[in-house]
Amino acid sequence: MKTLNSLDVAGKRILVRVDYNVPVENGVVSDDTRITASLETINLLLERGAAIILMSHFGRPKGVDDKYRLAPVHPVLEKVLGKKVLYVTSTPASAETATALSSLKAGEVALLENVRFEAGEEKNDATLNAALAKLGDAFVLDAFGSAHRAHSSVSGVAGLLPHAAGLLLEKEMVQLTKLLEHPVAPYVVIIGGAKVSDKLKVIENLLPKVDKMLIGGGMAYTFVKAMGGKIGKSIHEDDFLETAKRLLEQFGSKIVLPTDTLAGDKFAADAKTQIFATNAIPDDWEGMDIGPESQKVFAATLENAKTVFWNGPMGVFEFPAFASGTNAVAAALAKIQNAFTVVGGGDSVSAINETGYADKIDHISTGGGASLELLEGKTLPGVAALD
Ligand code: AMP
Repeated sequence: MKTLNSLDVAGKRILVRVDYNVPVENGVVSDDTRITASLETINLLLERGAAIILMSHFGRPKGVDDKYRLAPVHPVLEKVLGKKVLYVTSTPASAETATALSSLKAGEVALLENVRFEAGEEKNDATLNAALAKLGDAFVLDAFGSAHRAHSSVSGVAGLLPHAAGLLLEKEMVQLTKLLEHPVAPYVVIIGGAKVSDKLKVIENLLPKVDKMLIGGGMAYTFVKAMGGKIGKSIHEDDFLETAKRLLEQFGSKIVLPTDTLAGDKFAADAKTQIFATNAIPDDWEGMDIGPESQKVFAATLENAKTVFWNGPMGVFEFPAFASGTNAVAAALAKIQNAFTVVGGGDSVSAINETGYADKIDHISTGGGASLELLEGKTLPGVAALD
């Protein structure tokens, strides 16, 4: 993967693919993490005398759609960058955009409109690749959160221009690769979230490498059912019972499942709650969080770890009554000393941010899907294009 130091940027127009697919509520950016995460690369390029053209996708529009304009991002970007940014609202590959950018000078920054307004973006269309490539002299990929997509603005343009990884992408790759190559033992992975099927490939790729895998969240009930446990009306996937059984047979000594569960009488914030053994949940109760005994076991397993990766909440943490397992894991992770700790994936990142422990974690990934695909052992198309 080529890095910024190998790219000649002085006096050049650098097309930078960033990830500004940020949460927006009522037209206002509610979490600017991804915008601030792009500043290091932008500032370095500015220092080195480049003119910068930023491009990003936002949401999943089908063609031009006012709801998916990057308008909410523009003022936030100007504020955190402390500089005026030219926001070009015509579609990125149009002649109007090329004209609007023609007077952009070294030291200036422009922001293109949502690249997904271009029909060719998700198809990695050759005509779109060529039109985008014409806007710059070189290309920098800094959108780690999109690096698993073989789209025009991610991998397509890279083939047509001198290119390099931005600082954010480089940092993500360096940190996440440590979880795959020579992790320091004991290596503990905590996986949660709703479904086994979403994370099966990560589980399969990491199990041979880890010392312990703590499995919480909704996906745990498929494993418990596979062992013959009674899980009431807890979420589970019958199609994956055989897979769960196979994993338990092969890696049983590494897999740690919750022994107790905080169940609800309905899927609601105000559900009545009761603790049961995870394998003895009555028919009309639903497992919604790991129980207190499991929290202790999970925390104790983490205490001695030297490498930790966490993805996915331990329960329905959006409901405060069922957030305590997720909070307990966040607290345990924050407490361990002399270990390399990584949190990846949207929900676990919100959880660690809400608990206020974020600054105790060595690396919080900005890309949920991308970090999971990398840990599945896949090569990310955006990264492959920078070779
Ligand atoms: P994921 O995106 O795969 O990490 O899944 C996160 C989602 O899993 C969150 O919205 C949680 O509410 C949900 N989840 C976690 N535990 C459970 C559970 N026991 N039952 C239902 N949903 C759950």
